Amino acid sequence: MALSNLRIAVSPLKRRSAALPLPVPAELPTVDAVIAREKPQEPVHALRPETLRKAARRFVAGFPGDVLYAVKCNADPRVLRALWDGGVRHFDCASPAEIALVRSMFGTGAHIAYMHPVRARAAIREAYARHAVRDFVLDADEELDKLLAETKAKPGELTLVVRLALPKGGARYDLSGKFGADFDAAVALLRRARPLARELGISFHVGSQCVDPAAYARAIELADRVAGEAGVRVDLLDVGGGFPVTYPDIDVPPLGAFFAEIEAAHANAAHLRHTKLWAEPGRALVAGGGSVIVQVQARRANMLYLNDGIYGSLSDAGYPGFRFPVRCLRASDAPIRDFEFFGPTCDSADRMAGPFPLPADIAEGDWIEIGQLGAYGAALRTAFNGFERAHLVEVADAPMLATPGLDD
Ligand SMILES: *Cc1c(COP(=O)(O)O)cnc(C)c1O
Repeated sequence: MALSNLRIAVSPLKRRSAALPLPVPAELPTVDAVIAREKPQEPVHALRPETLRKAARRFVAGFPGDVLYAVKCNADPRVLRALWDGGVRHFDCASPAEIALVRSMFGTGAHIAYMHPVRARAAIREAYARHAVRDFVLDADEELDKLLAETKAKPGELTLVVRLALPKGGARYDLSGKFGADFDAAVALLRRARPLARELGISFHVGSQCVDPAAYARAIELADRVAGEAGVRVDLLDVGGGFPVTYPDIDVPPLGAFFAEIEAAHANAAHLRHTKLWAEPGRALVAGGGSVIVQVQARRANMLYLNDGIYGSLSDAGYPGFRFPVRCLRASDAPIRDFEFFGPTCDSADRMAGPFPLPADIAEGDWIEIGQLGAYGAALRTAFNGFERAHLVEVADAPMLATPGLDD
């Protein structure tokens, strides 16, 4: 069904005759209203623009530097628009498609940094020449060679950010295995890049869904030792993403505790205290802003067979074992019991152990809303086994779980 049908229409005639001179904002329906009307047999993605705007405002107001949205988390244009409306003007892009999308939506008013440290040569040329990207991350000499060869940039033209590898930390997703220069390599890269760079930076990523604010302080201390050893001026410290959100089994410290820890560590960093700061949040900005409504296709004991699964929006409920908040859309007085989910494909890995607490009388045909899926949900969907259909609606609901500092 067309998206526009889901908005409660405000007729232009009515608006003109109203006493208020201000335009009436289009009112969004609730999840319950959408499902009652549509009775969808395919998954529905419910986007909460107000939640996204609010998270963006909170992050931008609280973080002591520039906030770059990590676009890979959810690149839906409606998500980007809501974050923009909430004040986000900087974007961490990792592919030519993400860069082209952000430029097409916001023009040169958007600051884009290309933060994937391994790129195709054609992707570098497209970013630099077509989309005027000047900020690039790198973690190896070869990538710097590639950047210089493909951009033919003059010394002092590019912002070069050296990505530092971190030891394994306290995050749910460890991101230390793939990217990042070790201590000595980072020192050498900083020295080599300094005379070439307009601005020289150091970045890291503590791992996604990092619940320990001290992990940022430890990473900043390491970055400071690298800068000291390199003995060159550093202009920029990028503390990456990783800021956590609430899940049913995980309470997280308030966002402000992370900002305070970062500010204190930055102020104490002998070689970096005068740099500007960047952050690259993904999950924290958008997780609460999206949910998925699925339908039960079969029930066998405590096993629920759903029309979405790990090859759809529920990838993180599979092997990483995230327990997302769930609710049954039908009112029920039955006691709550634990269920396990199975997705629609024929792959036996398409299984989500949960457990997910739902009314004991849940049955075929019931709809379940699964929350905190604005990040790494719809963005990870595949067409495997023919199950790629879903549609997106914008709704007025609050997030299913509040994250302190973002939603309260
Ligand atoms: C994925 C990613 C992010 C966003 O991480 P979150 O944990 O979602 O905040 C930020 N920076 C880089 C380089 C990334 O790859």
